[in-house]
Amino acid sequence: MSDEDETNDGAAPGRPDADEPPICGYDGLACDLDGVVYHGDQAVPGAPEALSRMAARGTAVVYVTNNASRLPRDVAASLISLGAPATAESVVTSAQAGAARVRRLVAADRTEAPVVVALGGPGVRAALDAQGCRPVGPEADEAVAVLQGYGPELTVQDFARAARRISDGVLWVATNTDATLPQPWGNAPGNGAYVGLLQAVTGRDPIVVGKPEPPLYDLATERLGAGRALAIGDRLDTDIDGAAAAGLDAAWVLTGVHLPSDLMRLQTALPRYVVAGLAELELPYAAARADGDGWVCGEHTAFIEPEVGAPLRLGGPRPPGIEAVRAGLAALVAARHTRAVPVEDLVAAARQLDDIVTAAR
Ligand SMILES: [Mg+2]
Repeated sequence: MSDEDETNDGAAPGRPDADEPPICGYDGLACDLDGVVYHGDQAVPGAPEALSRMAARGTAVVYVTNNASRLPRDVAASLISLGAPATAESVVTSAQAGAARVRRLVAADRTEAPVVVALGGPGVRAALDAQGCRPVGPEADEAVAVLQGYGPELTVQDFARAARRISDGVLWVATNTDATLPQPWGNAPGNGAYVGLLQAVTGRDPIVVGKPEPPLYDLATERLGAGRALAIGDRLDTDIDGAAAAGLDAAWVLTGVHLPSDLMRLQTALPRYVVAGLAELELPYAAARADGDGWVCGEHTAFIEPEVGAPLRLGGPRPPGIEAVRAGLAALVAARHTRAVPVEDLVAAARQLDDIVTAAR
C-alpha cells in the first residue's frame, strides 16, 4: 500500500484500491476495548466474530487499553469468553507503557531493581514487576518514582503519601488522564481525576503515556511487529487523536461513546475510516468525495446550505446508513475549514447524523 498520503476525501478517480476492504491495507490492528469489542460485560454485536475472522485470515490483533488496573491475562480471559481472539500478550495496557517509561528513565545508573511506588491496581504492580522494577506502596520513602494508574482499592491515605513522594521530586508517570470511568449509572472518577488531585496538591505535572499520548500506541505497534497497523477506537479525544499523534491510520467505530456531533464539538480531524461496526472493515469501503458544492458517498449525498445555521441536506435512499454519515461528516468538516461556520451550528447540524447512527444500533 502506498496511499499513506491520501486524505480522507478519499475515493479519488483512478485510485486502484478505492473500494478495497480497509483490512486489506493493514498487517495488524490496534483495537480499543470498551465501546468497540464490548460494553461492560456484553459483547458489541458482531465485534468478536469480526475480529476472529480477521485474525484467522492472518491479521495480527492487539488490544490497546488506557485501563491500567486489570491484568492483561484477566482482560484476555474476558475477551475469550466473549468469543474474541486474545492472549495475555495481545493485551497492551497503559500500565505496561508507563512501567516501560519509568524503567527507561530511572535505569541509567542502576544495577539494582529501581524501587517504584505502584499507585494503582494489580495491573500497575505487575507491569512494574515485568520491567524489573520493585513495586512498593506509597509509604516507601526510598522510592525513586511513582507510577500512577487507576486502582479501585486506593485510599485517601495512599494519595496523601504519594503526594509526599511526588513533592519530594521523584519521577512521576501517569498511565492515562481519562477524567471519567463510565459506569452503567453514569460516570465515576477515572485516573485523570486522581491525577488532577495530585497535580493540585503538588503543583507538578506527570509524564502521561496512555492515549492520546503516543507511547501506548508505540508499544502496541512494537507488539504487533513489522508491518502496517490500523488503530481502531470509539473515542475521538483518546483513540483517534492518539492514533494521529502516533502516526497511525485510524478507524472510528460508531458503537461507543462518541457520535458525529462529538467530532464537530471536539473539532477532531476526520479519521481515515468511519464504520458502524468492525465487520465493515472486511467489506469494500466507499469513502466520501467532493462533488460540486457537495459530497458523495455511495448513493448518498450531503450538502451544506449557505444560510445561517448551516443546515445539512442529505440525499439518497431511505433509510440513510453509514454512507450518509460519511458524506455528512465530510461536508461538515469541509464547512469547518472553508466557510468558518461556528462550531455550535456544525454540532447542531451533525445531530441528524447522530440520529442515523443511533437508529441503526
Ligand atoms: Mg473505548
